[in-house]
Amino acid sequence: MSTNTTSAYSDFHLQFIAGEWQTGKDDSTNTNTNPYNGDTLVEIQQATKDQLNEAYNAATQAQEAWAKQTPAERAAVLYKVVNILDQRKEEIVDWLIKESGSTRIKAMVEFGATRAITLEAATFPNRVHGEIRPSNTPGKENFIYREPIGVVAVISPWNFPLHLTQRSIAPALALGNAVVLKPASDTPVTGGLLLAKVFEEAGLPKGLLNVVVGSGSEIGDAIVEHKASSFVSFTGSTSVGKHIGELANGGEHIKQVALELGGNSPFVVLKDADIDQTVKAAVFGKFLHQGQICMAINRIIVENEVYDEFVERFLSHVKTLQVGDPNDQGTAIGPIINEKQVQSLRDKIDEAQKEGAKMLLSGEINGQLVPPHVFTEVTREMDIAYNEIFGPLIGIIRAKNEEDALSIANDSMYGLSSAVFTADMQKGLRFARGIRAGMTHINDIPVNDESNVAFGGEKNSGIGRFNGEWVLEEFTRTHWISMQNEPREYPF
Ligand code: NAD
Repeated sequence: MSTNTTSAYSDFHLQFIAGEWQTGKDDSTNTNTNPYNGDTLVEIQQATKDQLNEAYNAATQAQEAWAKQTPAERAAVLYKVVNILDQRKEEIVDWLIKESGSTRIKAMVEFGATRAITLEAATFPNRVHGEIRPSNTPGKENFIYREPIGVVAVISPWNFPLHLTQRSIAPALALGNAVVLKPASDTPVTGGLLLAKVFEEAGLPKGLLNVVVGSGSEIGDAIVEHKASSFVSFTGSTSVGKHIGELANGGEHIKQVALELGGNSPFVVLKDADIDQTVKAAVFGKFLHQGQICMAINRIIVENEVYDEFVERFLSHVKTLQVGDPNDQGTAIGPIINEKQVQSLRDKIDEAQKEGAKMLLSGEINGQLVPPHVFTEVTREMDIAYNEIFGPLIGIIRAKNEEDALSIANDSMYGLSSAVFTADMQKGLRFARGIRAGMTHINDIPVNDESNVAFGGEKNSGIGRFNGEWVLEEFTRTHWISMQNEPREYPF
């Protein structure tokens, strides 16, 4: 679907390399399908290592001139991108629905987040600033410059493909860098090619943004190890993230990495919480995008006194959720991205039952549609609680008291997001500060992202922060330059 005045983008079987739309030269093909009905959306001949080299060479050349453009010129491209996103909103939302299985609600949320980070990034060219620091050496002046890094490698996942790609590439470009991007194989269009069309239409100079679609085995490691980039921005699973971290720091060229990885968000309900509001939040924070969000609620931890009441009300709300066609306005739960993920959810359902969790709600899995599954009497060490789920399954854990709830919440190898519900804000703040995570929301869901606020995790959830001045620092390098204004005395 397109707007009335603009014709829809096409030719997504081509890749954007060195400012040209090229055919991939590898023998393999990426068949991009709609996860709801299996329709083929586009077949993409994949890229070779030579094409990856071509992308890096073009990026290296284009970056020098781009970094010299004025802040106003770079900002103007980003503002133009915002305008184009607005004009093509329907077309973009439509792609998110058909390529990534986003419900209409999720696609709108993702569109909003993408727009917001682009607008934020448009302010970055004028927000970069250096510092002057005192010196203990007579006659010396210290200047701290912030410069573009050069070429940034970006690797993004399939779950929020448009936003999670844009939150790296928009700041990177705004700050004078060039980008070589590899989108996820399930979402090459919304995770990259569509954004390349938008930036091209906005007048971004050729070569600055390259979208290379290729198999992990052909270009996966090569994109990370390539000598032309000194920074890798990766968003995806913890296992792949660890591999990328090792490659980036164990290979020939040492690189900086930002790793935004998996999560296991606890959602804690203390006994004085407003149960009505808590249930509404728990349902949305768990089931948005079928639970395929790094910040999605992965464990619900409820204080003993309100456990039974919470479970009963949670169940009756979950039973009202419509599962089906993501394009239908009323659908809350659409399809799972691919068959492999569906199988991993089947395994989790079996494992939860084997481990003794009580399955209070289930349903038949139909193709890639997985209805909500709710388990109670879950304990902290069970697979359903301890590992990332990435689907519409949830376990509810009983906590003896507030202290026990905090101990369960912290019993995780992850530390991305988290939430606590209470009527007492001071108690909520105390509890929140006790959680080892990058983000905690009091009386709100763990799924939150604001383009001007630090986003990121700790422990196995990764390193680095997105948004606002945090990402501004990540995508620039610090350069100390000193000026010795009078001859210095040396000991020998
Ligand atoms: P994934 O790790 O399987 O893939 C992520 C990206 O890495 C894809 O583009 C994939 O093609 C690429 N990749 C895979 N192997 C590679 C290799 N050897 N070298 C280079 N690239 C390689 O993750 P996914 O399944 O796409 O996404 C789901 C995961 O991402 C979940 O664990 C989720 O929690 C996490 N995630 C984290 C955040 C965050 O902000 N922390 C956001 C979204 C998703």
